[in-house]
Amino acid sequence: MTEPVFLSVVAPCFNEASGLTTFHRRVAAACNEVLGRAAPAPLPWELVLVNDGSRDGTFDVMERLVQSDPHVVAVNLARNYGHQIALTAGLQQCRGERILAIDADLQDPPELLGPMLRVMEDTGADVVYGQRRSRAGETRFKTATAALFYRLLRRVVEIDIPLDTGDFRLMSRRTLDVLNLMPEQHRFIRGLVAWTGLRQVPFAYDRDARYAGDTGYSLRRMVRFALDAITSFSIVPLRLASFAGMTVGALGLLGLLYTIGSWAFGSVVQGWTSVATLVLLIGGVQLMVLGVFGEYLGRLYLEAKRRPLFVVDQVLVRAPSRAAARSVEPAPRSAEPAVNAGGVAQAPVAEQQALVADDNQPLQAGVVGHAP
Ligand code: UDP
Ligand code: MG
Repeated sequence: MTEPVFLSVVAPCFNEASGLTTFHRRVAAACNEVLGRAAPAPLPWELVLVNDGSRDGTFDVMERLVQSDPHVVAVNLARNYGHQIALTAGLQQCRGERILAIDADLQDPPELLGPMLRVMEDTGADVVYGQRRSRAGETRFKTATAALFYRLLRRVVEIDIPLDTGDFRLMSRRTLDVLNLMPEQHRFIRGLVAWTGLRQVPFAYDRDARYAGDTGYSLRRMVRFALDAITSFSIVPLRLASFAGMTVGALGLLGLLYTIGSWAFGSVVQGWTSVATLVLLIGGVQLMVLGVFGEYLGRLYLEAKRRPLFVVDQVLVRAPSRAAARSVEPAPRSAEPAVNAGGVAQAPVAEQQALVADDNQPLQAGVVGHAP
């Protein structure tokens, strides 16, 4: 068995090589400050870094961090799966009783850990979520579209997803256990957490500018993310589709009555243009409705395959002592990669045959075991 961990800090990383060392330094300082001085004994913590198929040497930086700090766990995904899946991978690997999900680009200040833990303790809430008072360093376009998106989402979704909230949140273990049971591929994690219904309290903060590197969210990804959010939690667009159909149908009926009436009174409605306009209008509405159906059908299709959410290439973690290192057999790197189906909680990292190196040995690569 491994030692219990009080806090896991989980950060997905995509091309974050330039800022990762600073990120680690600030997280470690915050954790040592808050947990290192806990009475009667320091509380153990871990930092789970997930490399989401970066192309800039992020994993090399992680490897160095693992060598220098036994708190660090580096999870290497087999390719880029996107922010939400990378975060899911980290959340499934971590072992903490409390879990802090945070971006690796230092937009969410790690120093808020202490105050957030205090809010959780004082209120007894299961989730303390960061709510952005301001967003430094973001383009007007991003701030405006984000504000619009959160308000639109609130209108169409029945559960209470808090406004202006990202994935910066502190969660209790029981919240994470429920989250890890959710199998969906199209994950909108802040919505899934809200869905649990467990008590959530906001924590207002000012979002900093990115410390280094560029955002991994292109406009295309933002649109996809917004569609995922809406379709995961609402069928209002499908209802709107039927509503659009009914409205156009009613207009068509009125048009028909008018045509018949004019014919009865001897004047036939003229004009190719009006007919063509009507055909285009109705054709357009039909295609739009089909498009909405397609969005849902496509998602249903992808979910129906029940593919694993991600593949872990390797997990690096440094054994705290020689004794612990001896008790775990390092697995060869060529072993099968670990896949994780949604809804299956994996064994904690240190219980798997993951890479383990003791202080006097070079780090060796290993591959985690299979999910059950
Ligand atoms: N990220 C990731 N995979 C991706 C894109 C982003 O793991 O495909 C990580 C990224 O390294 C960061 C977090 O997700 O830690 C948030 O991404 P980003 O800062 O690009 O988003 P923004 O803050 O601009 O919304
Ligand atoms: Mg960011």
